[in-house]
Amino acid sequence: MSALWTSEEIAQATGGVASAPFAVSGVAFDSREVTDGDLFVAMKGEATDGHRFVDKAFGQGAAGAIVSEPIAQPHILVQDSAQALEAMGRASRARMQGKVVGVTGSVGKTGTKEALFLALDRICPGEVHRSVKSYNNHVGVPLSLSRMPRDAAYGVFEMGMNHAGELAALTRQVRPHVAIVTAIAPAHIEFFGTEEKIAQAKAEIFEGLEPGGTAIIPYDSPHVATLYTKAEQHAARILTFGFDPAADVRARDMVPAEGGGTLVTATLPGVELCFTVGAPGEHWVSNALAVLAAVEVLGGDLAAAGLALAEMPGLPGRGERRIVPVQGGEALLIDESYNANPLSMAATLKQLGQEQAKRRVAVLGGMRELGDRSRELHAGLVEPLTAGAVDYAILVGDEMQPLAETLKGVMAFDHVPDTAKATHLLQSEIRAGDAILVKGSNSIGLSRLVAALQEAK
Ligand code: ATP
Ligand code: MG
Repeated sequence: MSALWTSEEIAQATGGVASAPFAVSGVAFDSREVTDGDLFVAMKGEATDGHRFVDKAFGQGAAGAIVSEPIAQPHILVQDSAQALEAMGRASRARMQGKVVGVTGSVGKTGTKEALFLALDRICPGEVHRSVKSYNNHVGVPLSLSRMPRDAAYGVFEMGMNHAGELAALTRQVRPHVAIVTAIAPAHIEFFGTEEKIAQAKAEIFEGLEPGGTAIIPYDSPHVATLYTKAEQHAARILTFGFDPAADVRARDMVPAEGGGTLVTATLPGVELCFTVGAPGEHWVSNALAVLAAVEVLGGDLAAAGLALAEMPGLPGRGERRIVPVQGGEALLIDESYNANPLSMAATLKQLGQEQAKRRVAVLGGMRELGDRSRELHAGLVEPLTAGAVDYAILVGDEMQPLAETLKGVMAFDHVPDTAKATHLLQSEIRAGDAILVKGSNSIGLSRLVAALQEAK
């Protein structure tokens, strides 16, 4: 097997100087993630300096390092390690002969990226590469690019942003043949002011499209026109997806499938397709439609891609379903503790409303980074809560105060200050046959409640 990078190639890409010849099979900038044969990129951050971890990285098997200060071990000396990583990302993209897909959106990036990976991996005999986790920013994207095998047939990259201009820079590195926007929601709205500005910033992804490239956009979004206008400037083809009959790729019919997923009949240009989406809720159907649109553009086998979507799991913290033991039986726990904004709250509360359960319980923590609109958007959760026929809610933390005021007299709920109190309360309230949705921004710490419930006997 040929090396991912030789020291000569790295030196050429970065303009750095190699201390000795070496070859690496992977790339990492977090010393804890270094495994045998990796290149360790020592970066200077605000809080820490990667050069302090050089020995640790080599102790864990690093075969070489990129550094901006000389070290004893094999290395490439550069002026700025972050810029060097970006240069490697660009060089990796330039040498790759396959097709590249970029995924952005306010919600659903990781889920869509993982599902598209599953689909392409099933279809393609060659190598399919994807970004790991949510490595989607100015460090994560070049890192993911630099890790791409040189003979990859497909690369799928998650791209995120919280300021205007960030995606424009990332997409010029990724240079996608296909660019997907999953959905627009008021995530990070404190940095933008309006959702319209978020849509404009997400639309920057189209600026990096390769000539002849395709834009895939959510038809049901109130911001479809903004996305479409920008796409028209850069894309040779635009495909819309959604539930509206006018979308190019649309779900015509949906029925619940066993295990919480959804059986979908969809229409794509010239084809009808039946498939099961493993992860529960309409929002995952929406992401699945975007995946199929991308497979259609790439000329892949849609039926095989459809089969892969059945394996689309609920990811930890993002819809994973767990059966937890409770007195006298079991309850269903839907773990959405990883992130929350008004759109994903509405989507998952709708899903809760469709669960077959004796009682529907929602444990909701605050939605962060909503700035001036925080009070109004929290209070607005009253609508999806009542529409989702939730029987009882536990509201966690100060941010939930406006919702607590709105909910008085509307439905049964308790409001507690923190996750520890919420855990205690839920443990005393939980009953066999309950379906419980746990959702809030990651920093609220509701993942601790999920862990405590699993341990409880
Ligand atoms: P991050 O910005 O944190 O990387 P992300 O965009 O990668 O987030 P995911 O991790 O895929 O998003 O999903 C996060 C949550 O968003 C899910 O748990 C689910 O609640 C919700 N979600 C996913 N897809 C959609 C969608 N299409 N519409 C509404 N909500 C969605
Ligand atoms: Mg993500």
